[in-house]
Amino acid sequence: MAFKKKFTPRKKFCRFCANPDLPLDYKRPDILNDFVTERGKIIARRITGTCAKHQRRLTTEIKRSRQMALMFYTAVHATYVQKRTKAAG
Ligand SMILES: [Zn+2]
Repeated sequence: MAFKKKFTPRKKFCRFCANPDLPLDYKRPDILNDFVTERGKIIARRITGTCAKHQRRLTTEIKRSRQMALMFYTAVHATYVQKRTKAAG
């Protein structure tokens, strides 16, 4: 059987439904980063298994996080910002 195996878990479930303590917040880019690719693209719901309700909020929070410059649009940008942050102190 041709079946693409990537980082897809065998059993899909919404991480936010499964763990109500998991914050879905733009101030937590460490968590949001699990739902975007290394290039900063939001990973589709059918891949992460996030439910419709949470995926909608997730998208909003990721976009907000980007605007607050907590998350990065692209990997190149990320490297640039990290360098700048280190240089600044
Ligand atoms: Zn959910």
